[in-house]
Amino acid sequence: MLYNKPNFISLPALSLQKMGSEYHTSHIFFFPFLARGHVIPMVDMAKLFAAKGVKATIITTPLNKPCISKSIEKSKLSGHNIHIQTIKFPSSEAGLPDGCENMDSIPSPQFFPKFCMATKLLQEPLEQLLLEQHPDCVVSDTFFAWTTDSAAKFGIPRLVFHGTCFFSLCAVECMRLEPFKNVSFDSEPFVISNLPGEIKMTRLQMPPFEISKEFEGMSRLLQEAKKAELKSFGVVVNSFYELENVYAEYYRKVLGRKAWHIGPLSLCNKDIEEKANRGREDSIHHHECLKWLDMKKPNSVVYICFGSMANFLNSQLKEIATGLEASGQFFIWVVRRSKEDGEDWLPEGFEKRMEGKGLIIRGWSPQTLILEHEAIGAFVTHCGWNSVLEGVVAGVPIVTWPVAAEQFYNEKLVNEVLKIGVPVGVKKWVGLEGDKCSMDALEKAVKRIMEDEEVEEMRKRVKLLSKLAKRSVEEEGSSYSDLSALIEELGLLRH
Ligand code: UDP
Repeated sequence: MLYNKPNFISLPALSLQKMGSEYHTSHIFFFPFLARGHVIPMVDMAKLFAAKGVKATIITTPLNKPCISKSIEKSKLSGHNIHIQTIKFPSSEAGLPDGCENMDSIPSPQFFPKFCMATKLLQEPLEQLLLEQHPDCVVSDTFFAWTTDSAAKFGIPRLVFHGTCFFSLCAVECMRLEPFKNVSFDSEPFVISNLPGEIKMTRLQMPPFEISKEFEGMSRLLQEAKKAELKSFGVVVNSFYELENVYAEYYRKVLGRKAWHIGPLSLCNKDIEEKANRGREDSIHHHECLKWLDMKKPNSVVYICFGSMANFLNSQLKEIATGLEASGQFFIWVVRRSKEDGEDWLPEGFEKRMEGKGLIIRGWSPQTLILEHEAIGAFVTHCGWNSVLEGVVAGVPIVTWPVAAEQFYNEKLVNEVLKIGVPVGVKKWVGLEGDKCSMDALEKAVKRIMEDEEVEEMRKRVKLLSKLAKRSVEEEGSSYSDLSALIEELGLLRH
């Protein structure tokens, strides 16, 4: 069912709209939320539109600019009309430490409300830019709900970007019917009402702010985001139709949202230089990393990375290290620790013992480059949507270890709908520190994904999805066509 070929009408890319006797290029603002997992796909999106001839302006703050500049270097060199426009980030006005302009630099999760408050103060400078440059469209993050009204003031349509998949967008909407009220204890499973596929969850796996109004700030933010989305021009989704067509249809036809699937966005990066230093400067030179992988056999290395935000305690990191060692597999493990943090999070003598067997990257890895290397046999991930989709693009089976945000929903898609992964077994949405996972559970899951026969089926399925992903962004592919249709529709609005 999931792999039915969609019946798409192919539309030509119409980025140049005829106005009288002249052609005018459309101009789009891309305004990502200031977290790596949001900036990375939105910058890719801007590159994608720019490659179609659209003038793309990425709106960000001064400290976020350098990494974006690096990411768009190649696109600029190719002559694409892509720019960065900075607006001052009011850290001190919002009570944040100086220099805190990205979610990964907030001192603790308790600062999240202040960070959101700071982003609301970006309204005035954004409106100034809208007045001066009058773009044809604003694509902005779901967390910037106020941008719908700001854009409307100038008669400009706003498109919403959530950064997640159709499945999770649908699941969150279905949760508004509160199926979790029908159970008597937090670990009792309930079916997500109306969501195709009889998907079961527990209250423990849900973000607390989706269950209770107690988490006022976050609940209000989500309410505002939903209201703004319903008033906006539509939603752009970093996914491809063949991956989750049932949910893409549900989102559009049952939930009534106007949506375009234009992913996988990471595929807009073609060469090694573009894939390296994506979102941040890599903590290891990609040549060194790839050389290490070149020495390994195909499908023999596990890649473990928990995205840009999850931050485990030292005790949990030790469990991971011990579990990896016990699994006997080769691995690359990305850890959010630097040399300055000391080695308290590692078992005694671990790195020495693991020489040649395991590579630890402290900080930031060239993730897509690693994933697509033929030596990678599995991906242990926190199920951030970018990571899941990058795993799919690379055709690598997944061990799911959700931590926060909508990651427990993404886990269901991976394991129960797509059947391309196995769970590590975490049961509870805890936030960025994550639920505890024992070394034994990790060892078992890693051995299973690397050695069990059942994984051959998963590997075949994910390899097929990888092919479909790549095909979807090629001419006439489903994402290519949807992007063209979107550009055409935006063009029609200008007349
Ligand atoms: N990423 C990376 N190197 C790292 C960690 C993350 O390149 O060491 C990239 C990863 O490829 C993905 C993004 O950062 O594109 C993380 O997004 P995701 O949605 O997976 O998780 P989040 O960081 O939002 O929790």
